[in-house]
Amino acid sequence: MYIVPEQEIADLMTRKAAFDAVEKVFAAMAAGDAYNFPVVREAIGHEDALYGFKGGFDRAGLTLGLKAGGYWPNNLEKRGLINHQSTVFLFDPDTGKVKAMVGGNLLTALRTAAASSVSIKHLARKDAKVIGMIGAGHQAKFQLRAALEQREFEKVIGWNLHPEMLPNLQEVADEAGLPFEAVELEGLREADVIISVTSSFDAILKVDQVSPGTHIACMGTDTKGKQEVDPQLLVTADVFTDEIAQSVSIGEAQHAVAQGLIKEADVAQIGAVINGTNPGRTSDGQITLFDGTGVGLQDLAVAASVVERAVEAGIAIEVDF
Ligand code: NAD
Repeated sequence: MYIVPEQEIADLMTRKAAFDAVEKVFAAMAAGDAYNFPVVREAIGHEDALYGFKGGFDRAGLTLGLKAGGYWPNNLEKRGLINHQSTVFLFDPDTGKVKAMVGGNLLTALRTAAASSVSIKHLARKDAKVIGMIGAGHQAKFQLRAALEQREFEKVIGWNLHPEMLPNLQEVADEAGLPFEAVELEGLREADVIISVTSSFDAILKVDQVSPGTHIACMGTDTKGKQEVDPQLLVTADVFTDEIAQSVSIGEAQHAVAQGLIKEADVAQIGAVINGTNPGRTSDGQITLFDGTGVGLQDLAVAASVVERAVEAGIAIEVDF
């Protein structure tokens, strides 16, 4: 088996490779060639940790495995470690033998940013110029960097509940040579693309704060109870997701579905747009919304890609197992 340690990932994995891996696996999911296993997530009663597994099998890419990990809230303060910890394990689908163990922390951020970036490529207006961010934490920087590669953006605007975190967005805008402006939520009407990536449990973005033709990627809601946008926005918008079962249970669509405002059948897979079996955006005035819930197959896809790169570069540690 191969081992690719966490500290090697930054030099090995590119945003482009993550994008390609995620776009491909979303397409395979919609074609029925890849599926996610039910997610396990447990409060283990130790260190207030939430631990779980996200796994799946991609018959097209022959990727089988799982990401194991979760959230240890005391890590940073007690041990100087990051609170989110994860490791990906890949198995040989022909034999069941373990194939690789890969650090999953940076890969999680890259695959999550790749998901919204894929949605922007396939659903945002081609002439999108202003990108609006809701959220300015760890994921927001990755999200913004990946999104800026999808259109000729000219300006970044952003809102965050904790304004002291907004320099994170400024930093990424500076890197890209773009102006950054902090705005109130009403100011997001200027945006052609909006990404929300917060830990919010209440709707932040309202219908009248979104202009016609906007593409919204809701990336923060990945658990029951979390929420970033007014459920009415999912009535107004055409809704797409990575996986419908997750979207309606733990994703942003959970609220609109629970309130009877939309039905499961109103949510489409982004993979269908990639495969050309769903037309996606059909007019410049349409609002599109991508509910990015985060699936195990994304983790496996980027991990498989990084193992390939690590083997090529002679960096993968080979262990007889
Ligand atoms: P972080 O702690 O670094 O940042 C949290 C962000 O949420 C900050 O901008 C903070 O100001 C904001 N925030 C916190 N409480 C809020 C509230 N009550 N209302 C509005 N905003 C609030 O976290 P992160 O690592 O950037 O993760 C952000 C979110 O993305 C989390 O909810 C995380 O679970 C989720 N996430 C989703 C996926 C996916 O695949 N969809 C993957 C990874 C993380």
